[in-house]
Amino acid sequence: MNFRTQYFNNITITSETEYQALCAQAEIPAHTVKQIAEHEYRLTYAEFDATEWAAMTREEHCRQVIDEAYLAYLLKLAKARARNRAPKPVEIVRCDCGHDIPRRMQMSASMGTSCPRCYDRMSD
Ligand SMILES: [Zn+2]
Repeated sequence: MNFRTQYFNNITITSETEYQALCAQAEIPAHTVKQIAEHEYRLTYAEFDATEWAAMTREEHCRQVIDEAYLAYLLKLAKARARNRAPKPVEIVRCDCGHDIPRRMQMSASMGTSCPRCYDRMSD
C-alpha cells in the first residue's frame, strides 16, 4: 500500500520554481537535485510500511512526497532530453569534381564522385 499517495494525491510539480514554492509552503528546506537523486532508490523502490509512516513527522511526509514528485519531473525531463538529442552534424565530403558538399548529395558519375552541379561535366 502506498501511504504517500493517500496523504498527498493532488501534488504535481512541473518546475523547480514550483518545487521550491511548495517546500516554502510546507516550511521545509528545498533539496538540491543531487540530494534528491541520492535517495532516488528509496523513493522508487521502497514503500514505507504503516509503522514507519506513522513515526514520521508531517515535515518528513511533505519532504518525501515533494521530493518524489520532483524526482519524477526530473526523470521525465531527462527522458525528453534524451529523445530530443541534437541530430547528427551534416557530414561534408570532397567530391572528385573538387567541391565540398553534404554526403547525402554526393553523386556518382563516370569520372568519379560529383556534386549535382558538376554531374553533367563529370559524366563525359
Ligand atoms: Zn562540383
